[in-house]
Amino acid sequence: MIADNLKKVKDSLAAGVELVAVSKYHPIESVREAYDAGQRVFGESREQELRVKHEALPSDIRWHFIGHLQTNKVKYIAPYIAMIEAVDSLKLLQEINRQAEKNNRVIDVLLELHLAQESTKSGMLPEECFQMLQQGEWRSFKNVRIRGIMMMASNTDNGEQIKQEFTRARDCFESMKQQFFADDDSFNVKSYGMSGDYLMAQECGSNHVRVGSMIFS
Ligand SMILES: *Cc1c(COP(=O)(O)O)cnc(C)c1O
Repeated sequence: MIADNLKKVKDSLAAGVELVAVSKYHPIESVREAYDAGQRVFGESREQELRVKHEALPSDIRWHFIGHLQTNKVKYIAPYIAMIEAVDSLKLLQEINRQAEKNNRVIDVLLELHLAQESTKSGMLPEECFQMLQQGEWRSFKNVRIRGIMMMASNTDNGEQIKQEFTRARDCFESMKQQFFADDDSFNVKSYGMSGDYLMAQECGSNHVRVGSMIFS
């Protein structure tokens, strides 16, 4: 069942689009089923749940932290996390850098943009994000590598609105790329699209989708 779902999702992705299987709230056995079907990249949004799964499952899984991360939790995931997707402040970026350095690692991160209309969604407003990049302190963080952006669209049935938000995400990515990462080939990740909207996300330039319920339930 999970293997079938996984295949269905994978078959609908264009070449070069990375699939993060979002396994939050789903049991270890389900993750293992997806693993046995060949999936290696998984997304979790809570540190404790991730810790348990990381310890129980094969070590070649690449775990992405996709939820809001408190600075005091960074130290627990820094030894092994493959990517931290929802960086929403300079303070968090700084702490990731500090903990990565302690572990002799460079940790990949994405900057989370708030483009949805709801006030509940987290992330930085584009202007805050550009301001942070402009200010330039991040350039001294040698143990984080900013790989791109991540965002969540509004939770709505209005496809036009979702499309607009994805398009804005792509525009933000492009201008960041131009202004701050023009000669950095590793700034190349646009992470948007979930079970309900990943096909549209893909049409709007996403190359990194985070799909949970469509695979696991
Ligand atoms: C839960 C979650 C997803 C996956 O959502 P589904 O609708 O289950 O595909 C993607 N991104 C984030 C940040 C999430 O928290």
